[in-house]
Amino acid sequence: MNGALSFHDLTVGYGGEPVLHHVTFALEPGEIVALLGANGAGKTTLLRTLAGFVRPRSGTIRLDGDDLARLSPEDRARRGIAQVPEGRSVVAELTVDENLRLGSLWRHRGRARDVAVAEVYELFEPLARRRASDGHQLSGGERQMLALGRALVSRPRVLTLDEPSLGLAPLVVAQLMATLRDAAARDGMTVLLAEQNITSALSIAGRGVVLDLGRVVADAAASALADDTALRHAYLGF
Ligand code: ATP
Repeated sequence: MNGALSFHDLTVGYGGEPVLHHVTFALEPGEIVALLGANGAGKTTLLRTLAGFVRPRSGTIRLDGDDLARLSPEDRARRGIAQVPEGRSVVAELTVDENLRLGSLWRHRGRARDVAVAEVYELFEPLARRRASDGHQLSGGERQMLALGRALVSRPRVLTLDEPSLGLAPLVVAQLMATLRDAAARDGMTVLLAEQNITSALSIAGRGVVLDLGRVVADAAASALADDTALRHAYLGF
């Protein structure tokens, strides 16, 4: 088994005061963890630090026991850490198929690439129907599926997603979450899902970690978080 990810005593800032303070939590291989918290809590910063875009001031991140500190963003991608950043970034001028192939460029060649792309179409039927459409012709939900599909073709061990539900209709969000859960189960992928849409994140996550002003204020089973009224009121706004 692989895909065990841990954050230990991580402090991160952009120059002034740190925006993450001594963040410590871990994900078991194949686990889906929701990273929750209000706007500005530090969710995006944590995902960007994992990707290697931001250097921590102190603390460590380990993947399967290996410290990632010295690894470039490219090295981390090669180790199997993939991201779906906020904003459904797909190439508007390319077709769905071309966008997906782009995602598998460095990982697969020839037939292996065809197989990887075909697997994504199996997961996302709407994408299969629109494979020849350009990115700019897609709906918001289809663009988010494509952004997720493009990350999946590289068969990541660890996948992070930053607010994938933002701006999508509830039905589309439900479909997206179900597909993410299926993909994670199929591949044994470890998933860190940053969301403000707590209900949908907790619907597929086994556990949730709540950040408030850059500190971990809760780390518990999804069901326990959903039932904790005081915590929900204090940090999650519902
Ligand atoms: P959001 O949902 O708005 O993305 P978030 O929980 O992901 O919120 P971050 O985006 O990580 O939070 O922001 C945490 C804090 O870090 C905020 O106070 C933000 O202003 C600050 N911050 C984020 N990016 C930068 C940057 N590039 N330079 C300076 N400060 C930043």
